[in-house]
Amino acid sequence: MRPVRFNIHPKEASISDSIILSEMPDGHMGEGFFATKLSDVVGLARKNSLWPMPFATSCCGIEFMATMASHYDLARFGSERVGFSPRQCDLLMVMGTIAKKMGPVLRQVYIQMAEPRWVLAVGACASSGGIFDSYSVLQGIDQIVPVDVYVPGCAPRPEAILDGVMRIQDLVQNESIRRRNSEKYKALLNSYGIE
Ligand code: SF4
Repeated sequence: MRPVRFNIHPKEASISDSIILSEMPDGHMGEGFFATKLSDVVGLARKNSLWPMPFATSCCGIEFMATMASHYDLARFGSERVGFSPRQCDLLMVMGTIAKKMGPVLRQVYIQMAEPRWVLAVGACASSGGIFDSYSVLQGIDQIVPVDVYVPGCAPRPEAILDGVMRIQDLVQNESIRRRNSEKYKALLNSYGIE
């Protein structure tokens, strides 16, 4: 029997060759079956389909725009679907100086997001108030919402933002599906006055 040949343009071939598949979760494999934990499969799916909710108030937001654009291409991480509706997003990305007046708005956006949700503080201002140690600026968004990952820098380069997203992905992949119902997690939210 003659081998089947596909007429693929060399450019297309190199694009498909460069696709890297996600690692399989730990499990048991046999002939025709693979068994693993539900939590691992859910984590794998969530990790590669994060929907960011950008909350950009100043210069770090420009770096986020560069991160979304074709050169850095956040879509490679399954995060191309940027939403501006908190109810449909699961990754809150806070980029920029947050004035105390803006704090309740940010908190409201966080509360409107459905569980499971994660928070990425991008840049010095969102993480700690940055250079604005003044009466009007919130000295870190973790004063009003729980933060999962902090990205340092003023402003952080797109590579740093991508690194932050990858750290979030690690958390998402390894999080137990029971965590959001645990007493510890409820206590964390209660400490922020969120039920
Ligand atoms: S961390 Fe620096 S670049 Fe980012 S919002 Fe603050 S002042 Fe601007």
